[in-house]
Amino acid sequence: MTYQSVNPNDGKTIKRFEELSDAQLEQSLAAAEACSGTWKRTSYAERAQIVGKAAAIMRQNVDEFAKLATLEMGKRIDEARGEVKFSADILAYYAAHAEAFLAPTKLSPKVGEAHMESSPFGVLFCVEPWNFPFYQLARVAGPQLMAGNVLVVKHAGCVPQCAIGFEKLLIDAGAPKGAYTNLLISHEQSDRVIDDPRIKGVALTGSVAAGKSIAARAGQFLKKTSMELGGSDAFIVLDDADLKKTIPWAVWGRMYNAGQTCCAAKRFIVLDSIADEFIKKFKAALSELKPGDPMDEKTTHGPLSTEAALVQLLRQVDDAVAHGATLVMGGKRINRPGSFMETTILTDIKPDNPAFRDEFFGPVVSFFRVKDEAAAIALANDSDFGLGGSVFTEDAARGKRVASAVDTGMMFINNIDWSDAELPFGGIKDSGYGRELGNMGIQEFVNKKLVRTAHIDAPA
Ligand code: NAP
Repeated sequence: MTYQSVNPNDGKTIKRFEELSDAQLEQSLAAAEACSGTWKRTSYAERAQIVGKAAAIMRQNVDEFAKLATLEMGKRIDEARGEVKFSADILAYYAAHAEAFLAPTKLSPKVGEAHMESSPFGVLFCVEPWNFPFYQLARVAGPQLMAGNVLVVKHAGCVPQCAIGFEKLLIDAGAPKGAYTNLLISHEQSDRVIDDPRIKGVALTGSVAAGKSIAARAGQFLKKTSMELGGSDAFIVLDDADLKKTIPWAVWGRMYNAGQTCCAAKRFIVLDSIADEFIKKFKAALSELKPGDPMDEKTTHGPLSTEAALVQLLRQVDDAVAHGATLVMGGKRINRPGSFMETTILTDIKPDNPAFRDEFFGPVVSFFRVKDEAAAIALANDSDFGLGGSVFTEDAARGKRVASAVDTGMMFINNIDWSDAELPFGGIKDSGYGRELGNMGIQEFVNKKLVRTAHIDAPA
């Protein structure tokens, strides 16, 4: 059964959910199509009232939403609360700004007048991952509902209660039937949804494999897609970095959400002259983290989302070591119930090691020492991914120079403040294409129409 709530803190199954029958799926698609006809003509003010109300309900019920995420995918409770508040901020942000973002823009042709106007595509299909079970939904629902699109959404199999909770949130906020529909469907049904002529665009956040499969399918029907995929972000430490301030970012960048963040710091690239000191301090700081129940405020190291995720990560670490990597710390499951993985550091990862290119989705540090700034940039760019990255240095100009030279969609200097409602988020290469959040995020699935008025007399 695909949709199950299993508590990763103890491995116990809490609840199972039936997938939709084909007839139920058809009813959902028909309702979305019917709603699209009226929703696209609903004023921004009316849409904003509903999306803004959803934000307010989330803010009033932070704990209930947060506990669902912690229960289903093991996010530590304080992180889960932060995610819920941020999701509400995203909804509120688009409720406030969508109309301005999509307002007609005047052009200046040599002859006559022209402007661009924006209109919604219609019904969008969104496929979303479990690692931020509310934020990922808010990232599509906020902008796309405000743009006048309606959404049918397939969430990940391990977070069905979060998926159902978010749909209920929008219904409670007054969204009409069909504006936002959660679909508990199989991959095979998902393929058929992509093929369905009522679906006008497809947004995926997930793995590279899912991206290739879903984008190819949508491409058969020339449907616009946006792809937010994996990453193996570099965390570059230059020789003038203040390690006292850098180490806490290194810990946070790798360990936030138990290391299960697309744009987490995954490859630590440190200049030779400070590499020994960095790894000593980093190891000491990681050793401080205490595994425990993610519902407990005092816990600093939560479980991975599922047993399958843990097994895969352990296999990747074993494989890395079998191919010559050195295990500096960790590498095993933690001896307690639930899907807990030790904080792990790998060094001596050579280019022919699978670990050199693969994404480690959990608390595993890949550590590299390099001789200088140019080597750090070259190594950061020697990746199939291109999502984000960061650089730590006391020299602002140097930080900007390195940030410009790294081929990714996002770079952070002396911080890893990944995501804000007003800032675009997304990557290049195997990390996908398109952007979510900010003004760019709301432009992904709208028709940009040119309207020109000029003289009626045709040229002679
Ligand atoms: P995943 O297996 O690709 O799952 C993500 C979603 O895609 C789930 O809803 C999953 O459904 C669905 N899915 C996967 N294959 C599918 C298919 N063939 N047809 C239809 N649906 C399909 O990803 P994951 O490993 O769970 O999630 C982590 C990945 O997401 C990492 O690579 C991470 O870096 C990436 N991610 C990227 C971003 C970003 O913004 N760039 C953000 C978060 C995560 P089921 O659960 O039913 O399989």
